[in-house]
Amino acid sequence: MSLMYKSTRNSSNKVLASQAVLQGLSNEGGLFVPETIPVLDKTMEQLAAMDYREIAYEVMKLFLTDYTEEELKDCIKKAYDSKFDTAEIAPLKKVGESYYLELFHGATIAFKDMALSILPHLLTTAARKNNIKEEIVILTATSGDTGKAALSGFADVEGTKIIVFYPKSGVSRVQEKQMVTQKGDNTYVVGIHGNFDDAQTGVKKMFNDRELNQKLKEAGYLFSSANSINIGRLVPQIVYYVYSYVTLFKNNQIAKDEKINIVVPTGNFGNILAAYYAKCMGVPIEKLICASNENKVLFDFFHSGRYDKNREFHLTESPSMDILVSSNLERLIYHVANNDSEVTSKRMKALSEKGVYEISEDMKNNLKDFVGGWADASQTMEAIQKEYREHNYVLDTHTAVAASVYYRYRDETKDDTKTVIVSTASPYKFTESVLKAIHTGDLPEDDYEQAKLLKSISNTQIPKAVEELREAPIVHTNECEVDEMPSLVEKILKINEL
Ligand SMILES: *Cc1c(COP(=O)(O)O)cnc(C)c1O
Repeated sequence: MSLMYKSTRNSSNKVLASQAVLQGLSNEGGLFVPETIPVLDKTMEQLAAMDYREIAYEVMKLFLTDYTEEELKDCIKKAYDSKFDTAEIAPLKKVGESYYLELFHGATIAFKDMALSILPHLLTTAARKNNIKEEIVILTATSGDTGKAALSGFADVEGTKIIVFYPKSGVSRVQEKQMVTQKGDNTYVVGIHGNFDDAQTGVKKMFNDRELNQKLKEAGYLFSSANSINIGRLVPQIVYYVYSYVTLFKNNQIAKDEKINIVVPTGNFGNILAAYYAKCMGVPIEKLICASNENKVLFDFFHSGRYDKNREFHLTESPSMDILVSSNLERLIYHVANNDSEVTSKRMKALSEKGVYEISEDMKNNLKDFVGGWADASQTMEAIQKEYREHNYVLDTHTAVAASVYYRYRDETKDDTKTVIVSTASPYKFTESVLKAIHTGDLPEDDYEQAKLLKSISNTQIPKAVEELREAPIVHTNECEVDEMPSLVEKILKINEL
């Protein structure tokens, strides 16, 4: 029997996993959710004998049931290979009394690599299974990080092309360099003269542009997106939660069935939702601690049951968490409403019309596994200083938000359950902010000099991604006005020349 996926906004819309991967969003704008969340069918002892890839298969086969064993294993093998700088893929480091799950060992040294290294393969396999003959063209608008992770994931994947639009003056120097030096004959990077919203709106328009889609089809292309709401990104993220529990068990850090807490630095709510799915699959997880920065819309939601995005937007030192609408929360709303798509639709309509919704007491009761917390700029810096001072371990700014929230939670509740703090980026990705916390003298201006300084004071290796950036030639120089985006796509795909 195949597991079906339903739309959070219309339960009668059901599709297979590969179709959900291809579609991304449902027609009504809802997100696809599994009809039931499967339970692990291997024992802890069996899982303890497996490596990351084998555990990935055991988890993903339960969700992506219309992929064959061979297809899934092939996707996993292509994704979790030497692109990662450690065979463990997601190492778990004991630091003091806590454990950091390091999700930053992939090509762009941040956690989005965990999913974006496999999504291209899940997508091309899904296209093949559903007899789609067109070549897939991924369009992405980025404020910096997702674009690079998507480019690395899709680079040289047969049957795909990827076009990334970024605001020409709206990303950091390092982020821009990472993108314009991207290798791969199927990758295209365009700086637009506008901000991130302009880029995103432009991409959405192209997805909905019938004439453009028809032209594409005639030329043998099909648009798709690598959006974080795709179940092809969510499912691979469940794997590392299972893996981290298995690792604790295997290394005798916990007894059989002992419960653990998980702390996740959160933005769009995708990563922590994967932890919730792992819990539903039977992993003994007690609390899911959701850590926010000053954009603490989720903290307020978990405390009041009211989601309100009408507030000031803060630019912080943890930019990947600067989000006021956490798209993946829609899936949790659906589950705590006992999988009721009408209840969910109503809330999402209120969110898009008024920017606010509230949940019922019953739904609130179903949220008891979650704890919301937040940390401001100085608390975040203090967390980096504390781990460095006490354990000589350097956190990036996102992970530091999680650590700060966790240490205060533990002080206030005296909850001494063993805890995994999810580490979403290498400190070398946010070198300057990290150095400001732990280095007293002047900072060098040059990015690479900063990396060398971080290396010398933290006694860690500079990641390959940072080393390579130094000498990498610039290969993408495309720029355009916002309204020229569609014609540039046609030019890139050589549509009018056919
Ligand atoms: C994307 C990102 C996050 C937020 O993850 P969500 O799944 O959007 O909640 C946190 N930290 C880093 C470094 C990220 O890139």
